[in-house]
Amino acid sequence: MREMHKRLATLNDRGKYGFMGNGSEHIQDARLSVEALAATLSHWADIASGTDYTQGVEAFADVLEQAFASLEVTVEREQPAPYASLEGDPVAVGPLLRVRVRPDAPVQILLLGHMDTVYGDGRKSKPCVLHPDGRLVGPGVADMKGGLLVMLESLRLLEKSSLRQRIGWQVLLTPDEETGSHASHAAILAAAREAHVGMVFESSLADGSLIRKRMGNGTFRVHVRGRAAHTGRDFAKGRNAVTAMARIVAAVDDLNGKFEDALFNPGRASGGGALNVVPDSATAWFSVRIGSVAVQRELEFLLPKLFEGFAGDGIEVEWRGGFTRPPAEASSANQALHQKFGDACRSLGLPAPGWRDTGGSPTAICWQRLVYHFLMASASWVEIYTARPNLPSLTACRIVSAPMLYS
Ligand SMILES: [Zn+2]
Repeated sequence: MREMHKRLATLNDRGKYGFMGNGSEHIQDARLSVEALAATLSHWADIASGTDYTQGVEAFADVLEQAFASLEVTVEREQPAPYASLEGDPVAVGPLLRVRVRPDAPVQILLLGHMDTVYGDGRKSKPCVLHPDGRLVGPGVADMKGGLLVMLESLRLLEKSSLRQRIGWQVLLTPDEETGSHASHAAILAAAREAHVGMVFESSLADGSLIRKRMGNGTFRVHVRGRAAHTGRDFAKGRNAVTAMARIVAAVDDLNGKFEDALFNPGRASGGGALNVVPDSATAWFSVRIGSVAVQRELEFLLPKLFEGFAGDGIEVEWRGGFTRPPAEASSANQALHQKFGDACRSLGLPAPGWRDTGGSPTAICWQRLVYHFLMASASWVEIYTARPNLPSLTACRIVSAPMLYS
């Protein structure tokens, strides 16, 4: 915590004395109280909001609604429709929060976050603890309630800035990121289409480094129907669904190594029953990871053909699923962003973060599109730095030279 104080003091002094570079004068009051931030974050973390614990997500949404309303904005609450699981069952999720401010301003920013965690109803998780070394540890602090707090406080600063009239923003907080953003996927994409810049407030890795690239993924469920027959009396009349499924599983596994950047994992299979009956039903579930959109497109075409190719002669094949999370590629745009990010950190006396080509920045549905726009459209006007390592996700936004904003 002391180190954090030191870093924040540095940040505040630089802001106060105008060393933050062009545009710093627009942020007049960048003083953040670490104690107040830690207290708020502890309170948020103690509200259990596991994705499936929808009443917990609702309770956290109530608290966030109030917190964002302190910016004197209108917080809208929407209820996404249930989505169909791979089994075809409807799955309900919590609410979605949206704040839109100045939608007609020349620059539009999307700030994306999720309210759910992986900690269920909280019965198995430990309460939030502030460790002597300054780390705040608790359920969902890093992923990503800390990020939501950073988002809120950054917006509070922005709203005090004289540049705000040129900046419109939309906050979208989703309830189901940890299970794949199935119910909020369409809302994220629609919001991304309206924005020039997208910011996802997931935390960095523990050592402060950021994810430059990560694989996308998809899941598929394949069901095979055959024809049952008694093995002793009518074996030839039977059509063995388990055998057909075994061939499908082997064919999917054989795809490993055939694509430069894709992994195929037959993760689960079931089927059959009594051993003296030719089985008429088998199901398998596959996870597929892809490193590029090009491979994703190729597989979207190829996989259905592969599955359906095993149908015929009394065997029926049905499949569901698809790619729900596109890959984030290490493009030249990403590398340029890395450079700018490092420059911003160094100018604040913070170490430049490293980059890793693995791990998750799971809300990256709009990553490619928006990072591209970030660099192409807005040159160098917003930089993000992370005042780590003490308070996870404690990130602040800094407004610097802004050709778009001043022109
Ligand atoms: Zn997350």
